[in-house]
Amino acid sequence: MVSKQRSEADFERSEKSALGINAKSITPPLADLAKRQENRAERYRIQSVARELFAREGFKQKLEREYDYHRTCKCLVVRQGEVQVRKSKEHKTAFYGGLVTCGSVWSCPVCTAKIQERRRTEISTAMDKAYQDGMKCVMVTLTFPHMAFQKLDDLVKRQADALQKMRAGKPWQKIKDRAGYHGLIRSLELTYGENGWHPHTHEIWMVSKDCDADWLKEKILSRWESACIRAGLLDEKKLDDFRKHAVDVKDNASNSDYLAKMDDSKHWGADREIAKASTKTGRKKGIHPFQFLVQYAEGDDKAGYRWIEYSDVMKGKRQLFWSRGLKAWADIEDLTDEELAAKQDDKADLLALLSGDQWFIVLKHKARSKILNLAENGGKAAMDEWFNCHGRTWRVDTATGEIIDC
Ligand SMILES: [Zn+2]
Repeated sequence: MVSKQRSEADFERSEKSALGINAKSITPPLADLAKRQENRAERYRIQSVARELFAREGFKQKLEREYDYHRTCKCLVVRQGEVQVRKSKEHKTAFYGGLVTCGSVWSCPVCTAKIQERRRTEISTAMDKAYQDGMKCVMVTLTFPHMAFQKLDDLVKRQADALQKMRAGKPWQKIKDRAGYHGLIRSLELTYGENGWHPHTHEIWMVSKDCDADWLKEKILSRWESACIRAGLLDEKKLDDFRKHAVDVKDNASNSDYLAKMDDSKHWGADREIAKASTKTGRKKGIHPFQFLVQYAEGDDKAGYRWIEYSDVMKGKRQLFWSRGLKAWADIEDLTDEELAAKQDDKADLLALLSGDQWFIVLKHKARSKILNLAENGGKAAMDEWFNCHGRTWRVDTATGEIIDC
């Protein structure tokens, strides 16, 4: 137990140190290949759970094809031609080509991981540029009180309304002018805890380096308070608490501050979030909705209903918002989540082409991540061996000529 705790702490530390402000690459370094494969297997596993839940919902709604209920059902399952197994020359990781990808940051654990990795780099680039240009970044976190009985749909609508109300009119323009505001990146986050759904935002403001963070916090708090009251999110009885907790402004925020904050609500990877959810703090702090898939697979039906509620409400909502012109200023190519999920590493070797029958066997054995592991660990020979064994019920041992049951 002690050694496990130590290794998790080491992992956290190594990750934090790798997220330095000038870090060129901010992809979290995973302990080793095995850990990365374990996380990938978990992502594929819970993506299949999502597929099952969506199909169940599609069936309930009497769709002609129940898998049409959500595009994540088809993600990395449905073929778009020949299925390719490729391996990146640079990262040594294997991945599939020739399959449909969904690009859903809310509902697909596999696409989310890929998209998030790229978005981290973009945010980091923009923040570095702000500092290089003589500005600074402040991190603004906006929350509001919520209770277990409140519906997600209602909370998210009111939150959007409050954000809009806060930013309307001349007083807001004055605050921006005085802060020397250049632009912002907003991340919409969602967790579920003891008090139900908890939508909140983390924003990075790029402002003049002379901007006083205490002054800014006071101004934002007063605007956020009035916006939340008008949007029906804040009862006057809760004002004291609201003033203490609803707005947080961190001066001179670094990439690592921001990305760690986002990860807090989003990084659900097998190694951290899932472990956290089973602890008291995890339950109190809230879990990422992907955790519902894990709970459902363990027999918790309520978690399945929550997953559907969540996916329906968040469908089509933008997770990351960049203020107008900011991406162009930071020289970042503006790709949608869907484009990003479909994008492939150009510098990759083609290890194998899988026939339709072979792909069917992979799906039947729930072996999508297994095949990628084999490709990474043993190349084409290892994959061939697996197909030899799983494509039929027996195989001939190449050394002895004996027939072996598979
Ligand atoms: Zn997907």
